Amino acid sequence: MVTRHKNFINGKFVDSMSAEFVPVLNPATGEVLAEAPDTQPPQVGDAIAAAQKVQRAWEVRPAIERAGYLRQISAKVRENASALAKTIVAEQGKTLSLAEIEVQFTADYLDYMAEWARRIEGEIITSDNPGENIFLFRQAIGVVVGILPWNFPLFLIARKLAPALVTGNTIVLKPSEETPNNAAMFMELLAQTSMPAGVVNMVFGRGATTGSALCDSPNVGLLSFTGSVGTGSRIMAAAAKNITKVNLELGGKAPAIVMPDADIDLAVKAIVASRVINAGQVCNCAERVYVHRKVEDEFVAKLTSNMAASRFGNPMEDLSLEYGPLINKAGLEKVAGMVMRAKAAGGTITTGGEIADLGKGNYYQPTVITDVAQDSEIIQSEVFGPVIPVHTVGDMDEAIEKANDSEYGLTSSIYTRDVGVAMRACNELKFGETYINRHNFEAMQGFHAGTRKSGIGGADGKHGLYEYTQTHIVYLQS
Ligand code: NAD
Repeated sequence: MVTRHKNFINGKFVDSMSAEFVPVLNPATGEVLAEAPDTQPPQVGDAIAAAQKVQRAWEVRPAIERAGYLRQISAKVRENASALAKTIVAEQGKTLSLAEIEVQFTADYLDYMAEWARRIEGEIITSDNPGENIFLFRQAIGVVVGILPWNFPLFLIARKLAPALVTGNTIVLKPSEETPNNAAMFMELLAQTSMPAGVVNMVFGRGATTGSALCDSPNVGLLSFTGSVGTGSRIMAAAAKNITKVNLELGGKAPAIVMPDADIDLAVKAIVASRVINAGQVCNCAERVYVHRKVEDEFVAKLTSNMAASRFGNPMEDLSLEYGPLINKAGLEKVAGMVMRAKAAGGTITTGGEIADLGKGNYYQPTVITDVAQDSEIIQSEVFGPVIPVHTVGDMDEAIEKANDSEYGLTSSIYTRDVGVAMRACNELKFGETYINRHNFEAMQGFHAGTRKSGIGGADGKHGLYEYTQTHIVYLQS
């Protein structure tokens, strides 16, 4: 019998009260790796109640003490880095080198957020009245719910847990039903620290059962979610019932603009790396290219040969691959359908364009499509696969206008040697993030936040930390 994960509630691993279990599949082979419960509302309620019970005791501790627990967890993550990375590869399908980076980044992130303990600052504001002082405090919100996607499953635990805990909140986490194994291992490690019971809880399950029970609770202070726009919208609707604060990190459709003066080799390298990393399943990575007509031929030729050279397969069997399988059959079919429709609408496939049959596993060929219209599905909707559509533009104005013509507003990039052009792009691109002459990847001290349907609020750095606080203004008349 495969391993059955247990929920972690009030400091203990507890059997699920649900009869329903969700199998965890290796996307490279289809093998069943484990099962996780589809936790039902009563047990979800227990997890929230456990967090609520210890909320006050946790938030009155000095922040530096709370940070100490984050450092204990990061030490455990570092000690077990290899096992965690292999677990991520098996259930999620990314390459081992990328999984190792994810584990390292997770430990670093826990330490980075711990460093904020002595830097959480309020304000003293000048009063209009004699003898009056006005203070602004930053305080804990209460119980935070963290609902996670599958694409960077371990890192996303840290991205929610670390800022929540250091600012004095307790938390209930729900990993994606696709990737509970690394989360279960993380909780085993957390249970080996001296973390007080109830501060961190984890419930496994599907979005429609466990996820929505978490979002329906009137006892939650913040719903912190990373995932798709559709789910984000449902979570906002659920939050509306209790006026619960939301922090939503949603999808992206990042434009990459290639200007005539760009270093074409650098642009190609960065765009290809950004498109095949994690089999294209990354929210911030290049999803569409706007190339200037003057360099179109050279760029498309080099992009096509570089994409075609990207090697994929089972990441457990070959450590030199650029990418592995897509997360599941539905993801693979979604990518294949979008490419088929783009082709039917007149798109030219310069490389790839097919599902790759490796016997088993969910693989898609690295694909470049040109001759795609601005209003086409492939330019407007998130592909989340190793597929890059290219649209030719005549000038900078057209590039900016078309880049901004999207319901998403997460990340964007531009390749140019002209600093004036780069700064114009920064001023006019309506996105939360812009990369200039560089691959698409954010830093933990930045602020990862999207506009339009890419989300509300953000993560990382000081601004991400303060998303987990509530202001409290105090007037003192002396
Ligand atoms: P998803 O929306 O399908 O699922 C995410 C989580 O939400 C899962 O844990 C799922 O169980 C849960 N969920 C589903 N329905 C729910 C409901 N009704 N109520 C509560 N919870 C529910 O997303 P996914 O497929 O796991 O992740 C891929 C998406 O995430 C992509 O769109 C990607 O761009 C986005 N993403 C964004 C960021 C970012 O920082 N902006 C980072 C990573 C991924």
